This record gives sequence, C-alpha cells and structure tokens, in this order.
Amino acid sequence: MHELSLCCSIYDIVGRALALRPGHSVEAVNLQVGQLRQVVPESLEFCWGMVTQDSPLAGSRLVIDQVPVVLDCLSCGESTTAADVFMLTCGSCGGGTITVRTGEEFMVTSLDVVADDVVAPSERS
Ligand SMILES: [Zn+2]
Repeated sequence: MHELSLCCSIYDIVGRALALRPGHSVEAVNLQVGQLRQVVPESLEFCWGMVTQDSPLAGSRLVIDQVPVVLDCLSCGESTTAADVFMLTCGSCGGGTITVRTGEEFMVTSLDVVADDVVAPSERS
C-alpha cells in the first residue's frame, strides 16, 4: 500500500529526530504533502496508527498540510494552480509546456514534542 510505505519513511525520519531529543515524546508530526502525491490523508493517518502502535510514537498525530499544484508555463510565463492533477496544462493559455513549481512535496516540516517529565525542576524536592 502506497500510504503504508510513506508512513514507514515518516517513521524513520521522526525516529531519527527523536533520538536527538531524549526524554521527549512526539505529539504531532507536521507534514507537507503535494497533491501530485495522490495521498489520501485519511489513509495516511490510518496507516500511521498501524505503524506507530507499540512504538515510542504511539498516540502521535499526523498533521497534513496539502500543497496545491502550481504550474509555471514556459509558453506564456503565467503561474497557475492546476484544477485537475491528471491534466497538467497551463490555466492561462492551455499550453502543456509547463514545469511543476509545487505539488510534489512530501516532507516532514516539524515535530511537536513534549518533555516526558511534566514536573517542573523547581517543584522537585
Ligand atoms: Zn501558459
């Protein structure tokens, strides 16, 4: 499954980041996902639950920021948002000579982490 392999990649990235922050837990993983990735957010969240269960990341959430497809037209120079990810043509002149500016992203942008020890140092005896 597409989403499952993506979740495994996210898990690796987050796991490595968390290794640098001992004593912290991840509350949320913020992602940017371009619409060209054909990712169904609900499936991604479901797979994340499966991948992280019984792991230190169990209970963390995925926060998915979907990035629209923006095309730069090489014919007329306009930048337009693609209405249909299956038909990548310029929204201004209809030309097909385009480059994709955004929409192919798949990255972990940030993590929301909390310290495992919720007792403030000043409250310790
Ligand atoms: Zn154009």
